Amino acid sequence: MALMAIRMGERNEAGIAAVLPLLAERFGPRLQTSQAVRAQHAHTTTYIPAQLPDGVVFPETAAEVREIVAIACAHCVPLIAFGTGSSLEGHINAPHGGISVDMSRMDKVLSVNPGDLDCTVEPGVTREALNTYLRDTGLFFPIDPGANASIGGMASTRASGTNAVRYGTMKDNVLALTAVTAGAKEIRTAHRAKNPRPDMT
Ligand SMILES: Cc1cc2nc3c(=O)[nH]c(=O)nc-3n(C[C@H](O)[C@H](O)[C@H](O)COP(=O)(O)OP(=O)(O)OC[C@H]3O[C@@H](n4cnc5c(N)ncnc54)[C@H](O)[C@@H]3O)c2cc1C
Repeated sequence: MALMAIRMGERNEAGIAAVLPLLAERFGPRLQTSQAVRAQHAHTTTYIPAQLPDGVVFPETAAEVREIVAIACAHCVPLIAFGTGSSLEGHINAPHGGISVDMSRMDKVLSVNPGDLDCTVEPGVTREALNTYLRDTGLFFPIDPGANASIGGMASTRASGTNAVRYGTMKDNVLALTAVTAGAKEIRTAHRAKNPRPDMT
Protein backbone atom coordinates (compact mmCIF):
# COMPACT_ATOMS: atom_id res chain seq x y z
CA MET A 1 0.00 0.00 0.00
CA ALA A 2 1.38 3.42 -0.94
CA LEU A 3 1.04 5.98 1.82
CA MET A 4 1.06 9.74 1.54
CA ALA A 5 2.87 11.85 4.11
CA ILE A 6 0.58 14.58 5.41
CA ARG A 7 1.84 16.99 8.01
CA MET A 8 -0.45 17.23 11.05
CA GLY A 9 -2.57 20.37 10.88
CA GLU A 10 -2.24 20.88 7.12
CA ARG A 11 -4.92 20.68 4.46
CA ASN A 12 -4.34 17.77 2.14
CA GLU A 13 -5.13 19.64 -1.09
CA ALA A 14 -4.15 16.78 -3.42
CA GLY A 15 -6.17 14.27 -1.44
CA ILE A 16 -9.25 16.49 -1.35
CA ALA A 17 -8.96 17.15 -5.09
CA ALA A 18 -8.82 13.39 -5.71
CA VAL A 19 -11.67 12.44 -3.38
CA LEU A 20 -14.31 14.93 -4.54
CA PRO A 21 -14.66 13.54 -8.11
CA LEU A 22 -14.64 9.96 -6.82
CA LEU A 23 -17.49 10.73 -4.43
CA ALA A 24 -19.34 12.70 -7.13
CA GLU A 25 -19.09 9.74 -9.52
CA ARG A 26 -20.31 7.30 -6.88
CA PHE A 27 -22.97 9.41 -5.12
CA GLY A 28 -24.10 11.86 -7.81
CA PRO A 29 -26.33 14.57 -6.29
CA ARG A 30 -25.85 13.00 -2.87
CA LEU A 31 -22.48 14.80 -2.84
CA GLN A 32 -23.02 18.52 -2.38
CA THR A 33 -20.27 21.10 -2.70
CA SER A 34 -22.23 24.36 -2.72
CA GLN A 35 -21.12 27.07 -0.32
CA ALA A 36 -24.57 27.11 1.34
CA VAL A 37 -24.66 23.39 2.11
CA ARG A 38 -21.03 23.35 3.29
CA ALA A 39 -21.68 26.37 5.53
CA GLN A 40 -24.78 24.71 6.97
CA HIS A 41 -22.63 21.70 7.92
CA ALA A 42 -20.00 23.79 9.68
CA HIS A 43 -22.30 25.88 11.79
CA THR A 44 -23.16 24.96 15.34
CA THR A 45 -24.06 27.04 18.36
CA THR A 46 -20.47 27.74 19.31
CA TYR A 47 -18.03 30.58 19.84
CA ILE A 48 -15.64 28.81 17.46
CA PRO A 49 -15.76 30.32 13.93
CA ALA A 50 -17.19 28.03 11.24
CA GLN A 51 -14.64 25.90 9.35
CA LEU A 52 -16.26 24.49 6.22
CA PRO A 53 -15.82 20.99 4.82
CA ASP A 54 -15.03 20.72 1.11
CA GLY A 55 -18.08 18.61 0.42
CA VAL A 56 -21.06 17.00 2.12
CA VAL A 57 -22.07 13.43 1.30
CA PHE A 58 -25.38 11.79 2.27
CA PRO A 59 -25.06 8.00 2.72
CA GLU A 60 -28.14 5.78 3.02
CA THR A 61 -26.62 2.53 4.29
CA ALA A 62 -23.74 1.32 6.44
CA ALA A 63 -22.20 -0.17 3.28
CA GLU A 64 -22.17 3.30 1.73
CA VAL A 65 -20.52 4.71 4.85
CA ARG A 66 -17.86 2.02 4.43
CA GLU A 67 -17.32 3.07 0.82
CA ILE A 68 -16.96 6.73 1.81
CA VAL A 69 -14.48 5.87 4.54
CA ALA A 70 -12.47 3.66 2.16
CA ILE A 71 -12.22 6.47 -0.42
CA ALA A 72 -11.26 9.09 2.16
CA CYS A 73 -8.83 6.77 3.92
CA ALA A 74 -7.04 5.92 0.66
CA HIS A 75 -6.38 9.63 0.12
CA CYS A 76 -5.79 10.68 3.78
CA VAL A 77 -8.77 13.06 3.76
CA PRO A 78 -10.60 13.90 7.01
CA LEU A 79 -14.22 12.84 7.46
CA ILE A 80 -16.58 14.57 9.87
CA ALA A 81 -19.82 12.79 10.72
CA PHE A 82 -22.84 15.10 10.96
CA GLY A 83 -25.96 14.24 12.96
CA THR A 84 -28.08 17.36 13.40
CA GLY A 85 -25.29 19.80 14.24
CA SER A 86 -26.61 20.61 17.72
CA SER A 87 -23.25 20.11 19.47
CA LEU A 88 -21.79 23.16 21.12
CA GLU A 89 -18.00 22.99 20.93
CA GLY A 90 -17.19 23.00 17.22
CA HIS A 91 -17.46 19.20 16.97
CA ILE A 92 -18.54 19.34 13.32
CA ASN A 93 -15.99 21.95 12.20
CA ALA A 94 -13.54 20.90 9.49
CA PRO A 95 -10.33 22.67 10.55
CA HIS A 96 -8.34 20.93 7.79
CA GLY A 97 -11.17 20.64 5.29
CA GLY A 98 -12.44 17.24 4.24
CA ILE A 99 -15.85 15.66 3.82
CA SER A 100 -18.87 16.01 6.07
CA VAL A 101 -20.86 12.76 6.22
CA ASP A 102 -24.47 13.76 6.84
CA MET A 103 -26.37 10.89 8.48
CA SER A 104 -29.87 12.35 8.03
CA ARG A 105 -30.88 9.84 5.33
CA MET A 106 -30.09 6.92 7.65
CA ASP A 107 -33.22 7.64 9.65
CA LYS A 108 -35.02 4.32 10.05
CA VAL A 109 -36.17 2.66 13.24
CA LEU A 110 -35.21 -0.94 12.41
CA SER A 111 -36.86 -2.81 15.27
CA VAL A 112 -38.60 -2.25 18.58
CA ASN A 113 -38.77 -4.98 21.22
CA PRO A 114 -41.18 -3.64 23.85
CA GLY A 115 -40.84 -6.76 26.03
CA ASP A 116 -37.09 -6.28 26.25
CA LEU A 117 -37.26 -2.48 26.44
CA ASP A 118 -34.84 -2.09 23.54
CA CYS A 119 -34.82 -0.96 19.94
CA THR A 120 -32.42 -0.82 17.00
CA VAL A 121 -32.15 2.39 15.00
CA GLU A 122 -30.07 3.93 12.28
CA PRO A 123 -27.80 6.78 13.44
CA GLY A 124 -29.74 9.62 11.79
CA VAL A 125 -32.94 8.95 13.78
CA THR A 126 -33.54 11.94 16.02
CA ARG A 127 -34.65 11.54 19.60
CA GLU A 128 -37.98 13.27 18.89
CA ALA A 129 -38.63 11.01 15.88
CA LEU A 130 -37.83 7.96 18.01
CA ASN A 131 -40.17 9.10 20.75
CA THR A 132 -42.95 9.71 18.23
CA TYR A 133 -42.37 6.21 16.85
CA LEU A 134 -42.43 4.66 20.35
CA ARG A 135 -45.44 6.60 21.60
CA ASP A 136 -48.00 3.83 21.04
CA THR A 137 -45.91 1.29 22.97
CA GLY A 138 -46.04 3.33 26.17
CA LEU A 139 -42.23 3.48 26.14
CA PHE A 140 -39.93 6.44 25.61
CA PHE A 141 -36.27 7.17 24.99
CA PRO A 142 -35.16 9.12 28.04
CA ILE A 143 -32.00 11.00 27.02
CA ASP A 144 -32.90 14.63 26.40
CA PRO A 145 -30.05 17.05 25.73
CA GLY A 146 -32.50 19.85 24.97
CA ALA A 147 -31.94 19.83 21.21
CA ASN A 148 -33.54 17.40 18.74
CA ALA A 149 -30.22 15.59 18.34
CA SER A 150 -29.59 12.41 16.35
CA ILE A 151 -29.00 9.12 18.13
CA GLY A 152 -25.59 8.78 16.37
CA GLY A 153 -24.51 12.25 17.47
CA MET A 154 -25.75 11.59 20.99
CA ALA A 155 -23.86 8.29 21.18
CA SER A 156 -20.75 10.00 19.84
CA THR A 157 -20.87 12.75 22.47
CA ARG A 158 -22.20 10.48 25.25
CA ALA A 159 -25.04 12.95 25.63
CA SER A 160 -26.75 13.61 28.91
CA GLY A 161 -29.42 16.19 29.74
CA THR A 162 -32.27 16.92 32.06
CA ASN A 163 -33.26 13.26 32.64
CA ALA A 164 -29.73 12.00 33.32
CA VAL A 165 -30.07 11.84 37.10
CA ARG A 166 -32.93 9.37 36.77
CA TYR A 167 -32.15 7.51 33.53
CA GLY A 168 -28.40 7.91 33.06
CA THR A 169 -26.57 9.17 30.00
CA MET A 170 -26.04 7.59 26.56
CA LYS A 171 -23.42 5.33 28.14
CA ASP A 172 -26.14 3.69 30.21
CA ASN A 173 -28.62 3.39 27.34
CA VAL A 174 -26.61 2.13 24.36
CA LEU A 175 -26.30 -1.65 24.35
CA ALA A 176 -24.38 -2.12 21.10
CA LEU A 177 -23.12 -0.21 18.10
CA THR A 178 -22.38 -1.09 14.52
CA ALA A 179 -19.47 1.17 13.63
CA VAL A 180 -17.22 1.75 10.64
CA THR A 181 -13.60 2.08 11.68
CA ALA A 182 -11.10 4.49 10.14
CA GLY A 183 -9.82 1.52 8.12
CA ALA A 184 -13.32 1.07 6.57
CA LYS A 185 -14.11 -2.09 8.54
CA GLU A 186 -17.60 -2.59 9.90
CA ILE A 187 -17.54 -3.78 13.50
CA ARG A 188 -20.20 -4.61 16.05
CA THR A 189 -19.35 -3.72 19.62
CA ALA A 190 -21.77 -5.95 21.55
CA HIS A 191 -25.27 -7.49 21.41
CA ARG A 192 -28.80 -6.75 22.57
CA ALA A 193 -28.16 -8.62 25.81
CA LYS A 194 -27.11 -6.35 28.65
CA ASN A 195 -23.53 -6.77 29.81
CA PRO A 196 -23.70 -8.64 33.13
CA ARG A 197 -20.36 -7.05 34.11
CA PRO A 198 -20.70 -3.30 33.37
CA ASP A 199 -17.38 -2.79 35.15
CA MET A 200 -15.74 -4.69 32.26
CA THR A 201 -16.84 -2.24 29.52
C1 LIG B 1 -30.03 24.09 23.63
C2 LIG B 1 -29.04 22.94 23.71
C3 LIG B 1 -28.91 22.26 24.91
C4 LIG B 1 -28.03 21.21 25.02
N1 LIG B 1 -27.93 20.52 26.21
C5 LIG B 1 -27.14 19.42 26.30
C6 LIG B 1 -27.12 18.64 27.51
O1 LIG B 1 -27.79 18.94 28.49
N2 LIG B 1 -26.33 17.55 27.53
C7 LIG B 1 -25.58 17.17 26.45
O2 LIG B 1 -24.91 16.14 26.51
N3 LIG B 1 -25.57 17.91 25.30
C8 LIG B 1 -26.33 19.01 25.20
N4 LIG B 1 -26.36 19.74 24.03
C9 LIG B 1 -25.43 19.42 22.94
C10 LIG B 1 -25.94 18.48 21.82
O3 LIG B 1 -27.34 18.44 21.74
C11 LIG B 1 -25.36 17.09 22.02
O4 LIG B 1 -23.95 17.15 21.94
C12 LIG B 1 -25.88 16.06 21.00
O5 LIG B 1 -25.46 14.79 21.43
C13 LIG B 1 -25.34 16.30 19.58
O6 LIG B 1 -26.07 15.48 18.68
P1 LIG B 1 -26.13 15.84 17.12
O7 LIG B 1 -26.92 14.79 16.43
O8 LIG B 1 -26.59 17.24 16.93
O9 LIG B 1 -24.59 15.68 16.73
P2 LIG B 1 -23.69 16.66 15.87
O10 LIG B 1 -23.62 18.00 16.51
O11 LIG B 1 -24.09 16.62 14.45
O12 LIG B 1 -22.30 15.94 16.04
C14 LIG B 1 -21.68 15.85 17.31
C15 LIG B 1 -20.43 14.98 17.20
O13 LIG B 1 -20.80 13.64 16.95
C16 LIG B 1 -20.21 13.17 15.74
N5 LIG B 1 -21.20 12.32 15.11
C17 LIG B 1 -22.47 12.67 14.73
N6 LIG B 1 -23.12 11.62 14.21
C18 LIG B 1 -22.25 10.58 14.25
C19 LIG B 1 -22.34 9.21 13.86
N7 LIG B 1 -23.45 8.70 13.31
N8 LIG B 1 -21.26 8.42 14.05
C20 LIG B 1 -20.11 8.93 14.60
N9 LIG B 1 -19.97 10.20 15.00
C21 LIG B 1 -21.03 11.01 14.84
C22 LIG B 1 -19.88 14.43 14.95
O14 LIG B 1 -18.80 14.22 14.06
C23 LIG B 1 -19.50 15.40 16.05
O15 LIG B 1 -18.16 15.19 16.47
C24 LIG B 1 -27.24 20.82 23.90
C25 LIG B 1 -27.38 21.52 22.68
C26 LIG B 1 -28.26 22.58 22.60
C27 LIG B 1 -28.40 23.29 21.27
